[in-house]
Amino acid sequence: MSNIKHWNSTMDVTSSPSFDDHQKVVFVDDADTGLQAIIAIHNTNLGPAVGGCRMFPYASKADALEDVLRLSRGMTYKSALAGLPMGGGKAVIIGDPATQKTPALLRRMGQFIDSLNGRYISAEDSGTSVADLKLMALETEYVLGINEQQEFGGDPSPLTAHGIFCGIRAAVQYKFGRTSLNGARIAVQGAGAVGRHLSKELIAAGAEVFVADINTNNVLAAQELGARIVAVDDIVGFDADVFSPCAMGAVINDVSIAKLSAPIVAGGANNQLSVPQHGEMLRKRGILYAPDFVINAGGIIEICRQYQNSSIADCNAQIENIGDTLIEIFELSGDKKICTSVVAEQLAEQRFQQIPVSA
Ligand code: NAD
Repeated sequence: MSNIKHWNSTMDVTSSPSFDDHQKVVFVDDADTGLQAIIAIHNTNLGPAVGGCRMFPYASKADALEDVLRLSRGMTYKSALAGLPMGGGKAVIIGDPATQKTPALLRRMGQFIDSLNGRYISAEDSGTSVADLKLMALETEYVLGINEQQEFGGDPSPLTAHGIFCGIRAAVQYKFGRTSLNGARIAVQGAGAVGRHLSKELIAAGAEVFVADINTNNVLAAQELGARIVAVDDIVGFDADVFSPCAMGAVINDVSIAKLSAPIVAGGANNQLSVPQHGEMLRKRGILYAPDFVINAGGIIEICRQYQNSSIADCNAQIENIGDTLIEIFELSGDKKICTSVVAEQLAEQRFQQIPVSA
């Protein structure tokens, strides 16, 4: 048991716009190491709350609180729909990962995680690396995704990309009745870790892949894989069967919905809809949307499978289920005339709200 002191924040968590009956929100403000962090546990009905630890130079504690509340809620929905015995949580460290990260700060973060006795389990996220998580793990056993020597890799991107590949295949099958991606035209926005692994799998399946990225090196790496390059400003409206956002969030908005020419949106970026109403706008335009928190669950499935000591074969089988889950969502959306993002949320709620909260 660590000696970390939870800081009694004067912030009113419950009046925050992203508060959604979170079960626990704890703060730490440690003068010795400079650690300022928040852990939010949204829901543990299905199991311990799992979610990455993000480090970002938030402009204010209120911004950090908003982010951690929103992200931890998202993890509950993602784990529930992925069929994992896990709940949703997230941690944020307020600070610049380029300049404010020290071993002492990261070990203190490990103690902070440990103080929750396993109700929250952490993993890598933007601004933190496997090496950072290994430092945290010196203070707590509640950290996942650090055993690179096991059959699972430390980097979740390849399996995240594999889940997106399965999701794109399901969307193409549902929309066009085609079981193969051979000849399908896929426009991938972002050729980072996920976008590149995805492009490689799509090309191997015979798809024509078009990629745009603001980073020249990543563009060149995608080109070497066999992808064709498209200007950054042209990728949203590109003539393709699938638009696959694999860069940043809020990419689906009033402007991009008007521009889209692909009849399917299916990609790995988190929080693609700028506001929830954009899900319905896509449906009304006849565009099939694979909800981000369903299609990009491959990485969290891998992390949780490590927690359960599963084999890589079982992990892959569960990732391939992402396609079946999406087909179920597409069919329900078609039957009920409700957008896929709302259907997916309702399905997740059925799963995690059925079980009473344990004492
Ligand atoms: P990454 O940082 O490796 O790649 C993102 C790429 O997007 C970079 O190459 C960047 O240059 C590019 N980019 C940024 N803005 C762009 C723009 N306007 N137009 C075109 N390209 C742009 O990140 P990643 O790990 O590949 O993750 C991609 C997305 O998937 C993120 O939204 C992330 O939150 C989400 N995601 C990732 C994982 C994972 O396992 N890595 C899991 C779930 C969700």
